[in-house]
Amino acid sequence: MNILIVDDSPLNRYSLHKILKEAGYASVILVSSPFEAFSLLGFHKPEEAIKIDLILMKTIMPEMDGIEACSQIKSRPHLQDIPIIMMTEQKHLGMLEAAFKAGAMDYIVMPVQKVELLARIRSALVLKKEMDQRKAREQELLDLAAKLEAANEQLRVQSSLDGLTGIANRRHFEEYYGIEWKRAQREKKPLSLIMADIDVFKLYNDNYGHQAGDECLKKIAALLQRITKRPGDLVARYGGEEFVIVLPETNLKGAITVAEEIRAAVEALAIPHAHSPFHKYVTISLGVAMAEPKRESCREKLIEAADQALYRAKQNGRNQVYAAADTVQNCVREDGVKKDAPD
Ligand code: GH3
Ligand code: MG
Ligand code: MG
Repeated sequence: MNILIVDDSPLNRYSLHKILKEAGYASVILVSSPFEAFSLLGFHKPEEAIKIDLILMKTIMPEMDGIEACSQIKSRPHLQDIPIIMMTEQKHLGMLEAAFKAGAMDYIVMPVQKVELLARIRSALVLKKEMDQRKAREQELLDLAAKLEAANEQLRVQSSLDGLTGIANRRHFEEYYGIEWKRAQREKKPLSLIMADIDVFKLYNDNYGHQAGDECLKKIAALLQRITKRPGDLVARYGGEEFVIVLPETNLKGAITVAEEIRAAVEALAIPHAHSPFHKYVTISLGVAMAEPKRESCREKLIEAADQALYRAKQNGRNQVYAAADTVQNCVREDGVKKDAPD
């Protein structure tokens, strides 16, 4: 418990110190001017401030009066909680109003009466202790709230990821696609989707086992993630061995380029697939569709169009990209008619 006494009179300092020492306050610091106090309190270097629990401040002093000193101390954020008791002579009681305005907590009339002085100090220190405890509890609560927020954030991230591949899951895709659809609508920008499905993957599992199948899925997911580089692109696992890629602000030509890059990269992984009737390595088929979103009702149609295009890629022999060229019209029209463009 550190008590700081600011008093220009050596006699006062001596007698105050004596009373406090006798009452058991071991740590009393005596200074003769506010400036000395400011330096101890770390006015210019708060990190070097000595921890003070209570200040006894004389009202009238030659270099700077106690009221001004009090107001300066209270203006420093790291000192705001230190209680200040003003020591004033009877004839200067009129100054107290200004002292309380400056942030003083209590006062005592000089020459001090021992009993009165100790009673005031005791209650000021009790109050300071309670204030410190309350602040500590508040800080604990703030820390706890921050931890909780971090844990929630982690949960949010985890619940949006696919357990096997670590890329976004379908739930996250739905959410993200909805947001990007609306953005594209607002900003009148194109939005492309790629649906990708590993070719004859059932045969791969049958031949190499489910575990090898899982490893293959992980490799392909990582590759998709690597290839789609723009910050707004999202690769998600749509289902078993099917992936979906959202490409905001990307026209059909751009989306076809990405899809073709993926197709070639999967082939280049050269994962042996001895039982495939189409290729000696694992391959992927991709359907591409693009919309310039104009109506909410078209949202599902873009997915359908990409799905249809994927179906055509499969039908045409797999290991290829197929694009639904007139997705734009499909989405504007409400009749649901789709026409696929030639390759
Ligand atoms: P297609 O070229 O027409 O897509 O043929 P396919 O065999 O890939 O399609 P099909 O839908 O008949 O089979 C999909 C297979 O994907 C079935 C299942 O064995 C496999 N599969 C789906 N999810 C997983 C998974 O999480 N792990 C593993 N190892 N295999 C999976
Ligand atoms: Mg498949
Ligand atoms: Mg499939």
